[in-house]
Amino acid sequence: MEERRRFETRAVHAGERRASSNDEAGTFFPISTPIYASTTFSHPDIQTTDRVLGGEEPGYTYARYDNPTVAAFEEALASLEGGNARVFAFASGMAATHAALAAAELGPGATVLAAEQLYGSTATLLVQIFGSIGIETRFVDAYDLNAVEKKVAELRPRAVVIETLSNPLLRVADTESIAGITSQAGAALVVDNTFGTPYLQRPLQLGADIVVHSATKYLSGHGDLTAGAVVAGAPYDAALEQIRKLIGGTLGTFEAWLAHRGLKTLPLRMTRQCENARRISRHLAGHPKVARVHHPALGDHPDHDIAGRLLSDTGGLVSFELAAEGREAAFAFLNALELCVKAPSLGDIYTLAIHPATSSHRELSSSRRERLGVRESLIRLSCGIEHPQDVISDLDQALESS
Ligand code: PLP
Repeated sequence: MEERRRFETRAVHAGERRASSNDEAGTFFPISTPIYASTTFSHPDIQTTDRVLGGEEPGYTYARYDNPTVAAFEEALASLEGGNARVFAFASGMAATHAALAAAELGPGATVLAAEQLYGSTATLLVQIFGSIGIETRFVDAYDLNAVEKKVAELRPRAVVIETLSNPLLRVADTESIAGITSQAGAALVVDNTFGTPYLQRPLQLGADIVVHSATKYLSGHGDLTAGAVVAGAPYDAALEQIRKLIGGTLGTFEAWLAHRGLKTLPLRMTRQCENARRISRHLAGHPKVARVHHPALGDHPDHDIAGRLLSDTGGLVSFELAAEGREAAFAFLNALELCVKAPSLGDIYTLAIHPATSSHRELSSSRRERLGVRESLIRLSCGIEHPQDVISDLDQALESS
C-alpha cells in the first residue's frame, strides 16, 4: 500500500488483494485474504519449489516459514509502522520478544540494558533464558534520560530495551532521545510498542532498530486471539527470518486472519479509546474517593510534555489510586464493578479493570512494587469503546458502594 495514503486508509487496505486466484470461474480477487489452512504449498514444477526454498524466487512452501494469510497481516502492519521495515508475525508477544532479542546479535558476554519498568515476563526472559547463555541484563529507570545516558556510557550494552508507555503508571519514553544515545554507542534499540501501537508512535521513524508488539492487545483489539510481531529492517530482518524458521513460533493462519481484520479498525478503536481514557481520567481526578490518577493527558503527569511531542494521542489506559488504602479496598472496588470486566490484558474493545499488584506485578517483591509506584490501592483500566458515560457511571457506583 502506497505510503502517500493516510494511516486510516492503509489500515483498511494494506496487505489485501496481494494475489489473484485463478480457476474455471476466471481470475478473481477475494476482497479479504482467505484463511490458507494448508501446511504446505505445491508448484507447477519441482524447479520452482527448489527456487522458492532457496530464496531465489518469492513464494510459499511450508507454513512454518510463511503463509499467505500471515503474510497479508505482516504487510498490513509493515505499512502502518512505516519505512522499509519487514514484519514477522509470531504466535505470541513473548515469542516475538524472544526472537527480537535473539536477532539483536546478543552473544555470551554481551550486556543488555533494560527498563526497570518492563513487562515482568520480558524482564524474566532476559534474566533467566538469556542469562543462562551468558548474557547479562542490567536495569535502569528508562524514563530518566540522564540515568539512561550514564548507564549506556558505563556498560556499553549491545541492546537497550524499553517500552513506549510503561505499565501501569503510563510513563512515556523519550524514544527519540534514547535512540540518539544508543546509535552513538552502537547499541540496538528494541522498543516494545504494545501500549503505543503505530497509531500513537512509530518508533522506527524516531531511530529505534527493532519494534516488538503483543498483537494480542490493541492491534487485534477484540480479546479473541494471542499473537505477536517484530518489525525491523536490515540487518535484523535476515536474522529474524532465520530465527522464526528454526525456533518455529510462527503465527497460525486463523489467528493471522483475525489479527488482520482487527488491524483494519485500529485507528477507529484507538481514537475512541484515547477519548474515553481522557474523559474517564478527568472525571476520576475530581472524585473524592480517588487519591491520584495517572494518565499522560493530565497536566500533572510527569511525561505530559513528552507525550505531546512524541505521541499522536495519549493512549487508552488509565491508572488510579483509591483514597482508601490497601488490597482489601482495591478488591472491594473491583468486585463492585458491574460493566467494566475484571480481567488482565488490555487493548480490547471492552473496558478491562485489574489490580496490578496481584496480576502484572505479582512476581515482584512488595518493596520493588512500592519503588515502582505499584501500590496496593492502584487500579488499572484499559478503556474500551463503550459510551464513556456508561463506564463513568459504573466506576462511580463502584466507588460509592465499596
Ligand atoms: N509486552 C507487553 C508490554 C505486554 O503487556 C505483554 C503481555 O501482557 C507482552 C509483551 C506479552 O504478550 P503476549 O501475552 O501476547 O505473549
